[in-house]
Amino acid sequence: MAGIYIHIPFCKKACHYCDFHFSTNQTLKQEMVNSICIELKSKKDFLSYEKIESIYFGGGTPSLLSEIQLNQIINSIYTNYSISENPEITLEANPDDLDKSILNVYFKSGINRLSIGIQTFNNKVLKWMNRVHDAQQAFYSVKNAQDFGFENLSVDLIYAIPKLEKKQFQYAFEDDLQKFIELNVSHISAYNLTIEPQTTFGKWHKIGTIKTIDDTIANAQFDLLIAELAKNGYEQYEISNFARNNKTAIHNTSYWFGKKYLGIGPSAHSFDGVCRFANVCNNAKYILSINQNIDYQTIEKLSGNDFANEHLLTRLRTKWGADIDFICQNLTPIAYKIFHSSLGNEINKGNIFQYNNYIFLTQNGKKIADSITSNLFST
Ligand code: SF4
Repeated sequence: MAGIYIHIPFCKKACHYCDFHFSTNQTLKQEMVNSICIELKSKKDFLSYEKIESIYFGGGTPSLLSEIQLNQIINSIYTNYSISENPEITLEANPDDLDKSILNVYFKSGINRLSIGIQTFNNKVLKWMNRVHDAQQAFYSVKNAQDFGFENLSVDLIYAIPKLEKKQFQYAFEDDLQKFIELNVSHISAYNLTIEPQTTFGKWHKIGTIKTIDDTIANAQFDLLIAELAKNGYEQYEISNFARNNKTAIHNTSYWFGKKYLGIGPSAHSFDGVCRFANVCNNAKYILSINQNIDYQTIEKLSGNDFANEHLLTRLRTKWGADIDFICQNLTPIAYKIFHSSLGNEINKGNIFQYNNYIFLTQNGKKIADSITSNLFST
C-alpha cells in the first residue's frame, strides 16, 4: 500500500507565519494543473504498481481548484494508478472556500476527508496573522461540511501565539480551545506557532516587533490541550495530532511508518523505499521542467544511519514509539554505541521511557521532542 500527495501551490493571501511553498499569483493555475497531470502520468511506475490507499491534496490551498481542475487531477490519478477500494482522499481547505456548492463537488469527486485550516476563532488574531477568513466562516465551514455528511473532518489549531510588543488584544487560549472542542469533529491537528526566518513574523521578530511566547506559557497551553482533548475523547496519537473513534489520518500515518509515497507538484517529496526525491520549489521552473523535460529534481539515497534517524524523527512522536531493533539494524556499530549512551541520558532525565523493544516520549519529553531527537541523531 502506498500514498499519493499532490501539492497545489497557490494561496489568496500569504499568512504571516507560513513558510510552505505557495504563490499568491494564480495566473499559472491551469498550467500547473496540466503539468501535475503530466507528472502523474510520467511517474506511474514509481510506486511499482502498489495499491494506493491514500491521496492527499495539500498546499498552498487546494480548495482554490475549480471543479474541472480537481476532476482533471483525480481522473489522471485513477487512469494511471491502481487505487484501493476505499482510499482515504483528503483535501486541505480554507474556511472561506467551503460553501455548499463546493462541498457537493467534493462529495461527487470522492473526497472523503477535509482538513480545514481554522487556526483560531479569535478574529483579531486571525487578522493579525493575515488569514483570509474570519471566525464565523470557520464555524460555518465545519457546520456545512457536517450537514453535508462529511464525517471525517480535521481542523487545524494554532497555540503558543507570540506576544505583541505594541498591539494588545484579548486572547485566551482556554476559550479558543473550547470552541474547537464544540465543533465535534473527529480529528484535530494542533501546532505550536514557530517563527520561521523567511516569513513576515520572522522579519518582525528580527526587529523586535514580536517576541516568542515564554516556554512556561507554551507548555501550560500544551498540557491544557492534551488534558481537555483527552477529556473529550480525543487520543493523542502523534504529538500534534488527536483523533476520536480511531479516525487517525491514514496518509500522514503512512509517512511515519516508512511506506512509499509519490509527491507531485512543486516542492513535493517522494520516497520509493530507498531514495528521497524532491521536486523543484518554484512554480515556473516546475512547469518548465515538466513540459521541457528539464530535470530540477534532487535525489538523496538514504544510508543506514539516515533510515535510523528518520525512524526516530517520526516514530518517537507517535503513540507507536520507535523500534530499537530497527534502529540497531540500521546504525553502524559506532553510531549505535553513541545512540545507546544518548538514549540512557534521555531516559535518566525522564524524557523517554522504554517498553519492550520500543521507546516513547514521556509527557515532559513531548514538550522538547525536537531537541531530544537531535540528541539521539547519528551523523
Ligand atoms: S493558506 Fe495555508 S499554505 Fe497558504 S499561506 Fe496560509 S498557512 Fe500557508
